[in-house]
Amino acid sequence: MAGDNPQLSRHARHLSLAQVGNDGQRRIEQGSVLLIGVGGIGCAAASYLAASGVGNLLLCDFDTVDVTNLGRQVLYGPGDVDKLKARCAAEHLANINPDIRITPLTERLDGDELAARVSQVDVVLDCCDNFATRFQVSDACVAAARCLISGAAIRFEGQIAVFGPGYQDSPCYRCLYSDADESLENCAGNGVLGPVPGVIGTMMAVETLKHLAGIASPRGILRLYDAASGESSSVTIKKRRDCQGCGTCLL
Ligand SMILES: [Zn+2]
Repeated sequence: MAGDNPQLSRHARHLSLAQVGNDGQRRIEQGSVLLIGVGGIGCAAASYLAASGVGNLLLCDFDTVDVTNLGRQVLYGPGDVDKLKARCAAEHLANINPDIRITPLTERLDGDELAARVSQVDVVLDCCDNFATRFQVSDACVAAARCLISGAAIRFEGQIAVFGPGYQDSPCYRCLYSDADESLENCAGNGVLGPVPGVIGTMMAVETLKHLAGIASPRGILRLYDAASGESSSVTIKKRRDCQGCGTCLL
């Protein structure tokens, strides 16, 4: 019985789950998550993480809300246009759950600062839109032995993969893509169906909660969602021994 305790009431459906229960929910509430990007994917992921009671959310995005974002970045409304996404997102998420700590980071994170932020958290969610950042984030997660959940969406297609926190025998993001892929397309030129980033962000929130609660989940699998056919598939990501990010010859 949840009784009069609002936190117990909020999380009653988690407490009823055998795989989560009191211990798992406590770990979720003690969890820290860094989101790189609060666009379409990050908005969905952050909403569920906040609602689920993840105790400490760091939102990194130096971009401002554009009117073309409103069709899929569901934390923002017309009154947020031209404001910093990380700040707007933090405000809206505080509405969803006022009992958690939310820190907006409005500068680009790289180098030592990125490394320091990554080492402060349990899980990093890569919800950004460019390969340069994705590689940097992956390298920081490998160096700090942190779990990285990577998500992307374009047109009718979405993908998600979970990496780490150990990388000795499992792949990293660079095992999947190399620098040569950097010219790959983005949403601006190709379009994206509004809810597809939301599907991926929601799946990332699921994987985050599982990691925090200690529920086992396979690593190094690329899950692909094709909204056109409504079908999903998955591919095993092979660890590349010569990988620049995690290759054993470099460790
Ligand atoms: Zn690798």
